[in-house]
Amino acid sequence: MFVRCLYSTEQTKTKCLKINAVQQKLMQQFLLKKGDFSKFVNTAIKDSDFVAPVEGSREKQNTRPFFREISSADEIYLGRKSYYTVKGFFFRENEKIFGFNGNKIINPESELKDTIYFGLRRCDLNGIYHQDIVFLDENEDPFYKARRDASLLIGYHCREGDDYCFCNSMELVDFFDLMFYDKGENYAVETGSEKGNSFVKKYSKFFTKADNAVSDEDRKTVNRKKLNTADIKDDYDNDDWKKGSDICVSCGACNFLCMNCHCFDFEDDVEFDLKAGSRIRKPASCQLRSFTRVAGNHVFRNERNARFKHRIYHQLQYFRERHNVQFCTGCGRCIEGCPVRIDWVEIINEMKK
Ligand code: SF4
Ligand code: SF4
Repeated sequence: MFVRCLYSTEQTKTKCLKINAVQQKLMQQFLLKKGDFSKFVNTAIKDSDFVAPVEGSREKQNTRPFFREISSADEIYLGRKSYYTVKGFFFRENEKIFGFNGNKIINPESELKDTIYFGLRRCDLNGIYHQDIVFLDENEDPFYKARRDASLLIGYHCREGDDYCFCNSMELVDFFDLMFYDKGENYAVETGSEKGNSFVKKYSKFFTKADNAVSDEDRKTVNRKKLNTADIKDDYDNDDWKKGSDICVSCGACNFLCMNCHCFDFEDDVEFDLKAGSRIRKPASCQLRSFTRVAGNHVFRNERNARFKHRIYHQLQYFRERHNVQFCTGCGRCIEGCPVRIDWVEIINEMKK
């Protein structure tokens, strides 16, 4: 997978430039006529599962854009970034880790098919990059790995963010197999991996080689919103955090909507006779008091203010301290989806004035 820093500090820029020198050879650029787009998608759908953003509607029981498996190019919606991320396709909501029957351990069967994920915005792709660090680099998770191995990631570049996006304030990298850029009558398509190059080869009748099809201008995104600084290491005791935590209802929507959040709980589902059952992994939320309860009934983040700050510090500081990668991708979904509209970016901006 190709990684190149877009908005970065000198430190990460140097690291990424080294990777870039090795991997740049992989990059190729093509044009795909918009008139051929539906035919291209409908051809690819015959070979693989195809997941893409669709517009929400009451009939689809989701009123905002979300990702789902589609059966025709007509279903794709690219009007704005999806409200719900693609996270649940990789990090499942209810993952059966194993079952048992008597003394016998039963491993869950996998029915994985190759899957194309289309229409991922740069924030979504960076979120997958971060999930990879957690589920592949640290301790390889076989369930996550199998899904990632079977995936092909196709991005769709945002020319303009919405009212909540502040991705330009964050350190995003290029991370994709293919990236689509809207160029009027055509899509300019950039490859970022061997997988991406093989894919273009497979569907070569739709792609025309076009060196320099993507300019630096094409890669830019306009944001109206800005996080003035992500450096909050000396602000932990600032009273301004209360502007958020005093009205937070600890619902966990911010964790659920964030492509990066990856905490989980295990639940054992055991038959009444205790002879059979299964262990299930479920996403969890650091905003819930119950999540911070450990053995011995000790609650280590009892105060809402501590839980509220923990999420922001994890996004801006703790992950970077551990992995040298900035975690938050500036998608703004946690602000858009917060039922009481807590805007932590504005809280930090005000705090820093
Ligand atoms: S803006 Fe919010 S939802 Fe988006 S990546 Fe950052 S913390 Fe997660
Ligand atoms: S979505 Fe808003 S109210 Fe809910 S836990 Fe997150 S910050 Fe608090």
